[in-house]
Amino acid sequence: MRGAVVYGPRDVRFEQCDDPKIIEPTDAIIRLLATCVCGSDLWPYRGIEAVQEPAPMGHEYVGIVEEVGSAVGTIRPGQFAIGSFFASDNTCEICRAGYQSSCIHRELMGNIGTQAELARVPLADGTLVATPDLPSAELIPSFLAASDVLGTGWFGAVAAEASPGKTVAVVGDGAVGLLAVLAANHLGAERIIAMSRHEPRQQLALEFGATDIVEERGDEGVARIEELTSGLGAHSVIEAVGTQESMMQAIRSTRPGGHVGFVGVAHDVELPGEEMFFSHVHLHGGPAPVRRFLPELVDLIWNREIDPGKVFDLTLPLDQVAEGYRAMDERRAIKALLWP
Ligand SMILES: [Zn+2]
Repeated sequence: MRGAVVYGPRDVRFEQCDDPKIIEPTDAIIRLLATCVCGSDLWPYRGIEAVQEPAPMGHEYVGIVEEVGSAVGTIRPGQFAIGSFFASDNTCEICRAGYQSSCIHRELMGNIGTQAELARVPLADGTLVATPDLPSAELIPSFLAASDVLGTGWFGAVAAEASPGKTVAVVGDGAVGLLAVLAANHLGAERIIAMSRHEPRQQLALEFGATDIVEERGDEGVARIEELTSGLGAHSVIEAVGTQESMMQAIRSTRPGGHVGFVGVAHDVELPGEEMFFSHVHLHGGPAPVRRFLPELVDLIWNREIDPGKVFDLTLPLDQVAEGYRAMDERRAIKALLWP
């Protein structure tokens, strides 16, 4: 098969790799129907995370199950299935509590690589969720979004306790931030403030249910949120960037007693203890347990109640994966979908 391999900063190649094989009896092999480039793939692409040796890339995937190991019971060849970026058994105590991304048996799909024609999925019964039947082609981008960015935005909104009557602010206008808007809307938030200065992203945020747009960032952004909330701050803030500035913007935009759901992968973020102490803000976040939400998200997409696939504004054949990275790195695209 062929797949994407990163060699170093701004050097992603599409090349011949070994076909994946069943290693453990709980594995499945899926033939990818769609995959994509994630904002978090840009950290190694930009050299912010070091690349020690050529490594497979990608952790978002949907496809047809091609083969399953002898211990796989519920997932069957021929099914269309979606999984998340952590494989999980979905049976351990941590999984049952809803934190599958910290499963005691978790495996990071990014180490396997899903920007490829085929992928091995460990713990297939616990990891994959199959659709009721083969979906029509126009639903595939939305199912692919559920693999990471939708599930991550959803977790951000749940962690921030977005719910009826609340004002929610979203810091970050990448795919996760935009889908956090969609999630907050679905969870019944009364007012949703998207913080974005990019016109096409503002437009999509409004389509997903944002009621207000704030273009300012940093202290000015915090001041605008205060203005919009009678000086109190938002009840719920979703942080979907992962920098010091965005994290502090999220915390300072939250009212005392409010909740921050932080889902941007943190890079060199340090929280000032004294400010945290006096803030009275709840913080909850981390790598999203997407698997917790997948059955519900698959249902919502299957029944066409949500259309998260709109975040893909660039579609390329998989052999042009390098252009997908370039377009996202240069912010010419929100998110690039790749067809194997
Ligand atoms: Zn587990």
